[in-house]
Amino acid sequence: MIEEPQEMRSRKMNERLDRVRPAMVAAGIDVLLVSPGSDLRYLTGYDAVPLERLTCLVLPVDGEPFLVVPALELPAAQAVPGLDVELVAYAETDDPYALVGHRLNANARRPRVAGVDDHMWAAKVLDFRHALSTVEQTLAGTVLRELRMRKTPAEVESLRRAGAAIDRVHAAMGEWLRAGRTERAVAADIKDAIVAAGHASADFAIVAAGPNGASPHHEASDRVIGAGDVVVVDIGGRMPDGYCSDSTRTYALGEPPADFTDYYAVLLAAQQAQVAAVRPGITASELDAVGRDIIAAGGYGEYFVHRTGHGIGLDVHEDPYIVAGSARVLEPGMAFSIEPGIYLPGRHGARIEDIVVCTVDSGGRDGGQHGGERLNLTDRQLTIL
Ligand code: ZN
Ligand code: ZN
Ligand code: ZN
Repeated sequence: MIEEPQEMRSRKMNERLDRVRPAMVAAGIDVLLVSPGSDLRYLTGYDAVPLERLTCLVLPVDGEPFLVVPALELPAAQAVPGLDVELVAYAETDDPYALVGHRLNANARRPRVAGVDDHMWAAKVLDFRHALSTVEQTLAGTVLRELRMRKTPAEVESLRRAGAAIDRVHAAMGEWLRAGRTERAVAADIKDAIVAAGHASADFAIVAAGPNGASPHHEASDRVIGAGDVVVVDIGGRMPDGYCSDSTRTYALGEPPADFTDYYAVLLAAQQAQVAAVRPGITASELDAVGRDIIAAGGYGEYFVHRTGHGIGLDVHEDPYIVAGSARVLEPGMAFSIEPGIYLPGRHGARIEDIVVCTVDSGGRDGGQHGGERLNLTDRQLTIL
């Protein structure tokens, strides 16, 4: 991995902080309180571990940001490349919530509304409520999701690298996925391969054989995979720069059942049509319908039991969600999964999942690319191992 030079990172951070302020004004938020998690990593590059002691970025709309850290975490925070905010360390017996309150109340304009990050621990939210008793709390996500959803070219490149890494694992699936092995053993090998392919961590490996394939989020079990089983394999991890991968392929060990072959063709047509329909201006709801209509017309509508997909970035599930009823208009830079599935309870199931980035609509001049770029490129035809 090529390390980014320090000044490039801090420029990126300042850009993000600059973009967040107008969004705060529009949302009527006076200060953001961001604890460890993807939002903090997005804003500062600091991949802090969420612990009971408070670590929190305090970002006033009209003042300098500062990061409150426990004294014992100070060296770790100081070591973050390009972390260009004032670090405020507190001693073990200090009250960091009161500290934040004092500093904010010293401002000429006292904050009235604080946006707390969507994943802040409830205990910390309540401690802030106590320390900032006149400040109304709201979710920072209303502001941060609008930023995080629109990926920069550098973020898209990160997702492209993540996609290529998980593709390498799918491409080698025959090494591990064999009849006579348990789902659990296969999943363990896949997780090792996810890391070997360049991820920092393997976050999930769904290996769902036979009737287990009808459960979309099946946990790998001790079921021994049989000859003739159809197996749904949904895998992903997090790259060293924090960006996630997520891709599903369905495999057949030997000749698949005839009823399966019928609906797999319907599913493949639906997934292809949805990817082809990705372009700026389409809504999430319309994109969901493109696949759902094809699957319903094939007679399997009642067996497609989940939304089409989810956004992906520093979190494996984030906005935008590709779901019926969502008026979210897709824009260039948005990245999300297209993962329709068909699940026949008690029999088997199938899902095909690619990450797609909405790009500028090329009008199809390049032979089929209408505004979406797939980041997963392994064969989508049923792979018979
Ligand atoms: Zn899922
Ligand atoms: Zn998945
Ligand atoms: Zn997914």
